[in-house]
Amino acid sequence: MIDCVFCRIARGEIPARVVARSDLALAFHDLNPQAPLHVLVIPTEHWNGANEVGPAGARLWPALLDLAVQVVRQEGVADSGYRLVLNSGSDGGQSVAHLHVHVLGGRRMTWPPG
Ligand code: 5GP
Ligand code: ZN
Repeated sequence: MIDCVFCRIARGEIPARVVARSDLALAFHDLNPQAPLHVLVIPTEHWNGANEVGPAGARLWPALLDLAVQVVRQEGVADSGYRLVLNSGSDGGQSVAHLHVHVLGGRRMTWPPG
């Protein structure tokens, strides 16, 4: 996925404010933050979205969640609370076709989401 924006960030070709990384995942600040803390956690390998992952998920899902919770602790919102979001497909509001988990914190979230 040569032109995928998140693949390019993972390869260091597009600058991003990286906050954490692991062997399978990368965490960086969202360009258009929707909360005081808004970090994206992506697999460094390209997957279009959650539905495509299949058996690779046995390693990938815990890696993504581990890094998300590491970010939450590191950025100081573990106690006040936070929200993890995975938008999938057009109805789910996914705008970048590279799997990612949003880490949102630093303000009170509302429910239901829009
Ligand atoms: P989605 O709508 O697909 O769930 O989330 C995509 C997110 O990626 C959006 O929140 C958007 O602001 C963010 N985003 C899109 N392009 C870039 C970029 O080039 N750099 C960074 N850091 N975030 C981006
Ligand atoms: Zn990609």
